[in-house]
Amino acid sequence: MTKYEAVIGMEVHVELKTNSKMFCSCANNPDEMEPNKNICPICMGHPGTLPVANKKAVEYVIKTGLALDCQIAEISKFDRKNYFYPDLPKGYQISQYDQPLCEKGNLIINDRKIGITRIHLEEDTGKLLHPKGADYSLVDLNRAGTPLMELVTEPEIKSSAEAKEFCKQFQLIVKYIGVSDADMEKGHMRCEVNISLKPKGQKEFGTKVEIKNLNSFRAVERSIEYEIKRQAEILDEGGKIIQETRGWDADKQQTYSQRKKEEAHDYRYFPEPDLPPLDLTKKAGMFDVQKIKDSIPELPLLKKYRFINQYKLTEENAKILSEDKELANYFEEIISELKHWIKDKGIDGDKLNKLTKLTANYILTELQRLLYKNGNLVSECKITAENFAEFITLIDEGKISSSGAQEMLAEMFATGGDPSNILDEKGLGQISNESEIEKIINEVIKNNPQSVEDYKSGKEVALKFLVGQTMRESKGKANPQIARDMLEKKLKQ
Ligand code: ADP
Ligand code: MG
Ligand code: ZN
Repeated sequence: MTKYEAVIGMEVHVELKTNSKMFCSCANNPDEMEPNKNICPICMGHPGTLPVANKKAVEYVIKTGLALDCQIAEISKFDRKNYFYPDLPKGYQISQYDQPLCEKGNLIINDRKIGITRIHLEEDTGKLLHPKGADYSLVDLNRAGTPLMELVTEPEIKSSAEAKEFCKQFQLIVKYIGVSDADMEKGHMRCEVNISLKPKGQKEFGTKVEIKNLNSFRAVERSIEYEIKRQAEILDEGGKIIQETRGWDADKQQTYSQRKKEEAHDYRYFPEPDLPPLDLTKKAGMFDVQKIKDSIPELPLLKKYRFINQYKLTEENAKILSEDKELANYFEEIISELKHWIKDKGIDGDKLNKLTKLTANYILTELQRLLYKNGNLVSECKITAENFAEFITLIDEGKISSSGAQEMLAEMFATGGDPSNILDEKGLGQISNESEIEKIINEVIKNNPQSVEDYKSGKEVALKFLVGQTMRESKGKANPQIARDMLEKKLKQ
């Protein structure tokens, strides 16, 4: 592969999360199990029916375009893309050809800008079901007419890892701005990869191959790796790459030829006569682009940099937090509670840095562990931001031992209980009272004369052992720093 460079462009389809379908008032419910429930003469393509464009869907595409720095068209229109397939009842798909809603944007991945050629709006098809062993297929048209957004990138992606990261970041953004759940397993988001190779340094692109219907990030990554190898081998042998559409066989981990260019479709695009063009100018008053722009929340990348600057988080921690919108908001609510606490107590500002770090650490380790199993959300968090903040102050004030802290967080998580109550009920408090610790230390010294001798004759490690014994005697509740200081003082007497 060292001889060649990969040139990759992506096409990503995302089903929009609107209440109704794209051109009729049928429910848009991807979870509907009963076949052909959400259908009507419009999405079934009966003659004489008229489509009406879903305003929310148009707004969602504009919102996505704005989030990706696109130019929003002033006038946009729908076109018919004609082809026959049993899951396409109209015999054509309403899509957008030469006047898409959004053009010329970009998405930043790993500090590199990937150009977005266009984002347009179309409708999804129905689904074919092939019952096992049957000599027929079934058609479910619930999905037919679902608003579908398509994004096309410039051929600027250079590797399988970048392609995967692009898909991940795009998924993150559409989820963040609330236009789609973009669940790949459920088919809300589907990717296509265009890929060609060229000798390193050469300007002209080679012949591309399109890989269709990639339903996971892994499939995107693996199919590209496979294709790079396959194409490199052909080129090495002096062969030519055939322009074709290929599929991905996940079982064999191979791409396979589906159709060659000679058979490529001529879709005979023409303007959809039943839908008026969309006038997006302010003057027309149909869409308020500025208002849509104002509704976009702070996006993950900006949030990440703000978290690094404002809270002095590590880049890694800031990335994890910023990519989970709810967790990021939760984190900031806790910090604001802690700010109040610090102010009320009249403690100096430096303290906030320490508490912020402590909060980030507990959220990203213990809390994440409770929330997720194998990357899946398994439980909701019952802890209010106020209680979480109080929990952090208890740790900071040494009122709770570190093993007690874990137990307390789990209890708060499960019950939503108040930390000071749990502290008393469960006896998780840390002993910082010197006379109580002294009692334990006296016992430990009495019971371990050899170690005391060892320490006095210069063996530093013996102190560690005695601290350990003190912790054990106190069932982990003695404040270890105080115990250590007191032991040292006593043994030096
Ligand atoms: P088509 O007309 O075959 O759909 P387009 O030019 O519209 O081709 O491009 C479709 C996708 O293919 C885009 O994502 C684009 O970036 C990508 N692409 C175009 N040419 C190449 C190439 N030579 N190698 C890899 N990707 C390419
Ligand atoms: Mg294409
Ligand atoms: Zn309908």
